[in-house]
Amino acid sequence: MKNLKIADIIDISLPIYPGMITYPKNPDVAFERLSTGVSFLSHISLGTHTGTHMDVPGHVFEGASGMEDVGLTRLVGPCRVLDMTRVKECIKVSDLESHRIRLGERVLVRTKNSRRGFKEFYPDYIYLDGDAAEYLAKKRITLFGIDALSIKKRGSIDQRPHTTLLKKGIIIVEGLDLARVKPGKYTFVGLPLRLDTPDGAPMRAILLKGKL
Ligand SMILES: [Zn+2]
Repeated sequence: MKNLKIADIIDISLPIYPGMITYPKNPDVAFERLSTGVSFLSHISLGTHTGTHMDVPGHVFEGASGMEDVGLTRLVGPCRVLDMTRVKECIKVSDLESHRIRLGERVLVRTKNSRRGFKEFYPDYIYLDGDAAEYLAKKRITLFGIDALSIKKRGSIDQRPHTTLLKKGIIIVEGLDLARVKPGKYTFVGLPLRLDTPDGAPMRAILLKGKL
């Protein structure tokens, strides 16, 4: 890709600031401004699953692989944004079937969560159904991204949206803001902070119009 213009880049990350919403039981974001006497810096406090972030197997499996095991090639490359704005409660197998999802694809889903915005926490956010997660795992996609702070229904005992994908090494990206994104093909670039954590990390994610 030559001469990238700003119009070719869509930022799909949530801003991180004190007072922003976090998923229930996750730490609040706090910034404290410090001075060395000659310059300023901030002490920041936040959970690894704050805002736009990725989940790795250690998020749900004790002792499983963490952030240092994630290959960057999986986080950069072609992706497809699927229109799921008409979905009522959760994304089901029947919502995915018509999209002919292929082996190795990076799939992002735009739901009505993006339209509602992320200034408040809505407990009835659109999530991925357990059977639909198994369907995606069978397709052996590379990455699945959703515009909700969690891929699974709040409080549900069905852990499959996390476990079936992470068991197969499929990366989960949560907290995407797809309000300005039309369904279609893009290049996904999602770079997490290089935190040596076992469970995940905040990520700056963008979409590029066109191929790299
Ligand atoms: Zn997460």
